[in-house]
Amino acid sequence: MLKDKFRLQIPGPTPIPPRVQQAMNRPMIGHRDPDCSKLVHNLSLRLGPVFGTQNPVLILTGSGTSALEAAAANTLTEGDEAAVIVTGAFGDRFAKILNSMNVQTHRLDIEWGKACHPEELKTFLKKHPKIKAVFLTYCETSTGVLNPIKTLAETIREHTDALTIVDGVSCIGGVPAGLDEWGVDILVSGSQKALMLPAGLSFAAVGERAWTTIQSNSHPRFYLDFRKYQNSLEQSTTPFTPAVSLLFGLEEVLDMLEEEGLEHVFHRHRLMRDMARAGVKALGLELLANHRDASPTVTSIMGGEQWSVESLRSELRYLGLRVAGGQQHLKGKIFRIGHMGYADPLDVLTALSALEVALARIGAPVETGAGTKAAEEEWIRVSRIDH
Ligand SMILES: *Cc1c(COP(=O)(O)O)cnc(C)c1O
Repeated sequence: MLKDKFRLQIPGPTPIPPRVQQAMNRPMIGHRDPDCSKLVHNLSLRLGPVFGTQNPVLILTGSGTSALEAAAANTLTEGDEAAVIVTGAFGDRFAKILNSMNVQTHRLDIEWGKACHPEELKTFLKKHPKIKAVFLTYCETSTGVLNPIKTLAETIREHTDALTIVDGVSCIGGVPAGLDEWGVDILVSGSQKALMLPAGLSFAAVGERAWTTIQSNSHPRFYLDFRKYQNSLEQSTTPFTPAVSLLFGLEEVLDMLEEEGLEHVFHRHRLMRDMARAGVKALGLELLANHRDASPTVTSIMGGEQWSVESLRSELRYLGLRVAGGQQHLKGKIFRIGHMGYADPLDVLTALSALEVALARIGAPVETGAGTKAAEEEWIRVSRIDH
């Protein structure tokens, strides 16, 4: 097979659009140059609609986890109480960050593969009246579950004064977000998932209520101090040297999102989810998440009785398709197909086609053509409604 022709369909990093790749090759500019100031200023405002806020969005240099840690370090300190809703490996990461800060962490562990629902959150919040913040994961990448952040944020507002802090790393840019409208206080993301860039930038949208806490929070911080980013942004710059090439790329990404229109981008992601799910089901495979909880950006599929997930993944790899395995206790039990960012319905068909061939090649029972057929029918059904 062609060594350099492979399809990267893992839930991040994701493929980079050629025009974004090209934009990142522009000659370097100084980070205090007026051109860079204009770029930083515009990008922080143009990111607003993607995060659902009127406020400029802070841009940090670091992978997604840097924004997760920043969200915690800017709002809490040793001895504070906080809640973490753990629906998978990334909720668990938030808990680990809080533990490292000696924050008293109360975990609400949800079975992996399910979303957190408002009733269970409400009961949990009543047990912990002293918490100062609730940490949630929007798309739990390890399971392919999308937590209903809008209603969960409402529940938090109704029952406590705690801040709502959300990890949107694996879905922002592919699903709607409403920092202002939903009453979310901090929403963070990273560059290498639905935002179609290499890893290296992270983002934080911060609401008014959170700023009050951030200003008075005594926790020691330097590189990740949101106050520095905000003060610099008022001067149209960043406190430290930003990843300038990634900013060039981000400008192109925002052009692309605006050209297609955010509503169409979200629609495309939902369509890819529904096609992937229809195809997988038609092949007789089981999905980890139910339809209500399924994320438009990543689909988790259960392994079968008669074949191993890891041999399927290596067969797919040989055929030219890279998919992800499971994390922690789901390792070897599931595989995950990413369909976010620079991905379209034909990519889903290609993945399903490769899946059929790979299943046949490892001797798993499969009706070739059944998966792609079901996905095509879903695509056709949805385009009829569109017209
Ligand atoms: C990818 C991801 C992160 C960040 O991981 P990094 O490797 O630090 O970029 C955080 N949360 C979620 C939900 C993710 O999918």
